[in-house]
Amino acid sequence: MKEQLDALAATLFAAVEAASSEKDLQELKVRYLGKKGELTALMKCLGALSAEERPLVGQLINTVKGRFEEEFTSRLAAVKGAETRRRLASERIDVTLPGRRTAVGSRHPVTLVVEELSEIFAGLGFQVAEGPEIELDFYNFEALNFPADHPARDMQDTFFLEGNRLLRTHTSPVQVRTMLKHAPPVRIIAPGTVYRCDSDATHSPMFHQIEGLMVDKGITFGDLKGILTIFINQYFGKGVGMRLRPSFFPFTEPSAEIDIACVICKGKGCRVCKNSGWLEILGAGMVDPEVYRHVGYDPDAVTGFAFGMGIERMAMLKYGINDMRYLFENDIRFLSQF
Ligand SMILES: [Zn+2]
Repeated sequence: MKEQLDALAATLFAAVEAASSEKDLQELKVRYLGKKGELTALMKCLGALSAEERPLVGQLINTVKGRFEEEFTSRLAAVKGAETRRRLASERIDVTLPGRRTAVGSRHPVTLVVEELSEIFAGLGFQVAEGPEIELDFYNFEALNFPADHPARDMQDTFFLEGNRLLRTHTSPVQVRTMLKHAPPVRIIAPGTVYRCDSDATHSPMFHQIEGLMVDKGITFGDLKGILTIFINQYFGKGVGMRLRPSFFPFTEPSAEIDIACVICKGKGCRVCKNSGWLEILGAGMVDPEVYRHVGYDPDAVTGFAFGMGIERMAMLKYGINDMRYLFENDIRFLSQF
């Protein structure tokens, strides 16, 4: 029986040594010391031994049980410690690692220019006005003094829709809508999308304009020049050369084209300014009395001026963009530079 006990003890302690989890250890305890355990079974055989053998074997069994308790406890602590270390290692957070940045978008150059222009003109007392992109012929042409046979009404330039409607070809209908709704004085700018049947390197069928209108008693061409001078100095920088050339628009009289000294070559002449040293940036003029009659203003009581410019062109000149198509292709590598 002693040999049997020694063999069992050797197997048991080897198994305890090899156990790698708390679950393994608990299973060993049940297998050897549980109600039907192997060591328990040996204890039940004690009764069959002689009176001399019984205390000796009983003591041996108790020694094995005592040693088992000790080894079980220390092995359990070791196994638990290893488990904790393993879990901590797997859940370890390296606080020195740099964080992952969320990709942040940037505003489109067209939006940036609209915001900047709106801010400059807000500083001069102009309010932002908006109107629909699908317009009636009346607002887009008739009220702006476009004669019925004006070339701008030609199918080549205008997207006509059903029922006398069209995609507005300029932001000027916002002037008409504003004056019909509000009595003078009026001081607005109208940024927005406009459409023309035209597409090449410098033209897009959809582009953006910003329009300005100021009507009050006694407004002169000098006021127009003053406002535009302030605007050009704020947008392109102080001291940029500026010139006015006579021009024609159906809704202004007199009319002018406004040039600035080329911002690329500073007036020396380059490809962008076609060696003229000047860049055409906007059209303007005194509002034609015919327009006032269409909106119910008294042409003898008020005067005013209007001006308009292409936002894409303003963005190209400001940021040195040499192809307008960049502004419509939505290439993230281009857009993220702004
Ligand atoms: Zn130039």
